[in-house]
Amino acid sequence: MLTLAKTEAIEGGIALIDKAPGEPGPGEISMRVEAAGICGTDMQIYKWAPRMARRMKLPTVMGHEASGVVEAIGAGVTRVKVGDAISLESHIYCGACHQCLTDRAHLCAETRYPGIDIDGCFARHVVVPEQIAWVHPRPIPHTVAAMFEPLGIAVHACGEGRGCKDLPVLINGCGPIGLMAVAVARAMGASTVIAVDPMALRRKAAADLGADVMLDPNDTDIPAAARDVTSGRGVEVSIEFSGTPAGFSNAMESLTKGGDFRLVGAPPHPVEIDLTVWLRQCPTVYNIHGRRVWDSWDKLWSLFDTGAVDIRSVASHHLPLSDAPRGFELIKRGEALKPLLIPE
Ligand SMILES: [Zn+2]
Ligand SMILES: [Zn+2]
Repeated sequence: MLTLAKTEAIEGGIALIDKAPGEPGPGEISMRVEAAGICGTDMQIYKWAPRMARRMKLPTVMGHEASGVVEAIGAGVTRVKVGDAISLESHIYCGACHQCLTDRAHLCAETRYPGIDIDGCFARHVVVPEQIAWVHPRPIPHTVAAMFEPLGIAVHACGEGRGCKDLPVLINGCGPIGLMAVAVARAMGASTVIAVDPMALRRKAAADLGADVMLDPNDTDIPAAARDVTSGRGVEVSIEFSGTPAGFSNAMESLTKGGDFRLVGAPPHPVEIDLTVWLRQCPTVYNIHGRRVWDSWDKLWSLFDTGAVDIRSVASHHLPLSDAPRGFELIKRGEALKPLLIPE
């Protein structure tokens, strides 16, 4: 079968290669992939970021955001059955470590991912543990369900700490998850949603998803602008998605005293932090890693099912799997939000 794999330990270094589909072993399922999203993590693999280079063995089929149908199950699989429509949670957690045993599987110390540690879903068929299958409560378009994994991060980020209800919220970085967070913050009742991104395409998308104010950090003093739209106080919630030092300090300095700082974006390199700002501003800091299993999924489902959140516009391109390298080029050139790959 056709797959898109990371084949070479260089920037780029991806290729369409032929690989035999696997058979599900004990506790595993085989999913027929109907749609799969290219995400920021895939771009880190594409760019061969050091933390990926340390971790991955090549070649590995990429992709961890997907929706499809269960087509075979291995021994001992009981929770899902052949024919179930599912989306994938991307964290394969061990189930035995301290975090897993204390209801924090999203922080599992032994987490593995499809598309990084095992072959992923940029293929017609993928074999994964039954554990990460989330069964769709009713039939829904796979092109939407393939984005539930990143939507779950947005839901986790918007719901953490004091949530968003009746609070002014700043979303720094409007890639796909930041854009979804704009929609989720709006749906959760944020009083004002400020979206910050240097790219016009993303600011326009943020406006379409319900942002009240769109700001370009290249020509705007973000903390000053955030105070302008909050009667001089600053925002109660800053959610940082960009992973950049400038984004980190803009998000931090836009906060009112004692506000929530929620960190999602992973910086590729160490970032200097001015603790004197923290002492002055007294933020409550949350690290948002993945989704709470399955709490974030339950919440994202109710936001989707009630129509409160519609993320279809985030999928800017539907590409056949054979055109997958173009999806990476589109993101690199800033011409795509989230391209979805559709296996032929
Ligand atoms: Zn992802
Ligand atoms: Zn664990």
